[in-house]
Amino acid sequence: MLYAGIAWSADGYQVEVVDADGVRAMAARHWGAERVPELTRWLCGEERTPKGPCAVALESTNGLVDGLLTAAGLEVYRVDPWQLGERPDFGSVPALFLAELARTGREALSPLTAQGGGQTGRDADYHEGIRRSAPVEAKLTEAGRWFRHGPRDRQEVSLTFDDGPDPVYTRQVLDILARYGIQATFFCVGLHVNALPDEVRRIVDAGHSLGNHTWSHPFLPDLTARQFRLQLDRTSEAFDRAVGRVPAVFRPPYGSRTPETLTELLADGPALALWDVDSWDWARPGPEKIATTVLDHAGPGSLILMHDGGGDRHQSVRALPAVIEGLLERNLRFVSTEALAGLPGTP
Ligand SMILES: [Zn+2]
Repeated sequence: MLYAGIAWSADGYQVEVVDADGVRAMAARHWGAERVPELTRWLCGEERTPKGPCAVALESTNGLVDGLLTAAGLEVYRVDPWQLGERPDFGSVPALFLAELARTGREALSPLTAQGGGQTGRDADYHEGIRRSAPVEAKLTEAGRWFRHGPRDRQEVSLTFDDGPDPVYTRQVLDILARYGIQATFFCVGLHVNALPDEVRRIVDAGHSLGNHTWSHPFLPDLTARQFRLQLDRTSEAFDRAVGRVPAVFRPPYGSRTPETLTELLADGPALALWDVDSWDWARPGPEKIATTVLDHAGPGSLILMHDGGGDRHQSVRALPAVIEGLLERNLRFVSTEALAGLPGTP
């Protein structure tokens, strides 16, 4: 058995692999954030030397690779902050440290599955964070900067795509949107914006709007206010470099939130956009099921959550025409998330 650790940083992922004795089995490898499918194949062991099964450990602040790794059948463990001691404010602990935890401490780590998602076992922290956030959310709502849907008395919906851009699926989504002539909003992560600026340009050139979805898709209860601020700001800077503009809306990964992190949004920064219709497309239940899930729950004002990045999204792409046609049949108009929420400066 081999043991791998995956660390994230400003420019992608670092991977270290140790053997059963804790000795480095190969040189450290680096992958750009656009190459996670390749990283996954490499960890699966067909292309590397030495070969053999590999257990993988990654931090709870590293939320963009676990879906592909678990779908590929790898043994994946999440490491939570209390198992790490001091962490950097931006980036995860070194990959070699995580690989060593995969070797020696697996019984204390959380095994992840493709069905369970990246935050398996953290339900209590998730709900406690949301419960404690109510007073801050009330202030944001009062300021018109917190919403999960738009007005119910207007024939408008907003279609949103999270976790991209992706080198394969984003273009496919854009082609379908163009075919129907409708507008959408893309909540991108900084790691992908930084790695694929041309895809972000493509989104903007096609007339769609952008949202900030953090840098590395962390579980927000595990971040300090400063760490959250860096996730937000570095992502905005990546957008600015790519397309010369900064998103007006932010969506927290998993919908997770805490008063400590949300307080950072009170003074300035983007408005917080959740959703009221979850397609559950990330769980890959089949394109038909994705479309019926959306159409069963959507109506005037709906903010619809789908994904164009962070995993195998071919089912999302296949479901999209049926989603759009079903909503058009109900005479619903597609607008950006900012416009749906009536944010200042939007039509
Ligand atoms: Zn996401």
